[in-house]
Amino acid sequence: MLGIGCSFNVEAAPGQAVKIQPSIPEEAQDYGLTFSVLDVGQGLSLLVESNGEYLLYDGGDRYASSYVVSYLKNEGIDQLDYVVASHYDSDHINGVIGALNAFPVDTIIGPDYIHDSQTYQSFTNTVASLGKEVEHPVVGTTYELGSADITVLAPAEIVDDSNDNSVALKIENGENSFIVTGDAEYTSEAKMLASGIDIDTDVLVIGHHGSASSTSWDFIEATTPEYAIISCGEGNSYGHPDADTMEKLESMEISVFRTDKQGNIIATSDGTDITWNVEPCNDYSSGDGSLGTLPAGALSAESVNTESSTSVLTSANNTQPKEQIVWLSATGSKYHSKPDCGTMNPDTARQISIDDAISQGYEPCEKCY
Ligand SMILES: [Zn+2]
Ligand SMILES: [Zn+2]
Repeated sequence: MLGIGCSFNVEAAPGQAVKIQPSIPEEAQDYGLTFSVLDVGQGLSLLVESNGEYLLYDGGDRYASSYVVSYLKNEGIDQLDYVVASHYDSDHINGVIGALNAFPVDTIIGPDYIHDSQTYQSFTNTVASLGKEVEHPVVGTTYELGSADITVLAPAEIVDDSNDNSVALKIENGENSFIVTGDAEYTSEAKMLASGIDIDTDVLVIGHHGSASSTSWDFIEATTPEYAIISCGEGNSYGHPDADTMEKLESMEISVFRTDKQGNIIATSDGTDITWNVEPCNDYSSGDGSLGTLPAGALSAESVNTESSTSVLTSANNTQPKEQIVWLSATGSKYHSKPDCGTMNPDTARQISIDDAISQGYEPCEKCY
């Protein structure tokens, strides 16, 4: 495809070697990537493909393993470039074992801890039988997959909690980015924030199936995804996704896809735009039907706005000129007309006069101003 129908800038004197530079913009080059979150019920499995190279991240639980293997075969895959076991809990690793038995694999990646389970034993036996070793990359390690760059975000260290040992990845394809964190919880999320690696992303696979122990406010604010994907089983016994997590996503106006409601979720990136096999369901209901326990301020922004506009009306009777008040987020560089414009945590938003905001260097939010 490249080079056909494109014009080239040729800069060379006669007789000199000709240096050809394509004049097409970078984003028009061959940045193809598909990011598929498979419906494995309660568990996680996702397949990333770019330019014929494949990465499998987790494979779901025992009952999903054969589905994952047959899905890969239907995709025409005959070898996997990377297989990542996020951590060694059964709802992630069983299908990994299935895939290792079904396909030749180049690089196997997993966290450096030992899980006391038969499934883990089976995983290590399988890896050994292939004559392979599991790589334990440090944070900041990068890999290439087709046109995409992959950066390891976690684990920063091995701890007692299996979930917090999850290998987290940021996958960048041109201008598009995806983050998956396995079952990483608040502790590991905080370390990802502290790593200094840019964790802003377009797409976030919500950690630990939407459990309340993952997706801290700090993490969701730093990643500010446009899209969230939740992988969980319909009617699962854990109540995933948790109401608190769903309230955060809703108040940030993040579009949501869910495998329990929509089956396989497939994103396609051309390096500039991301398209989807289904529309976001934007179903913010919790797995157990409960309501969240977040402070009212996190959600009742509309009523807050109503109240404040009422008080403005009341004070309009006073002859004193009213100073215009704007909202600042805890970390951002913009001022906002409301405390929850979708790119900030309403819990930590504070009010300030617009004059002070401008004099302190804040700029108007493009979304709400
Ligand atoms: Zn899990
Ligand atoms: Zn887990």
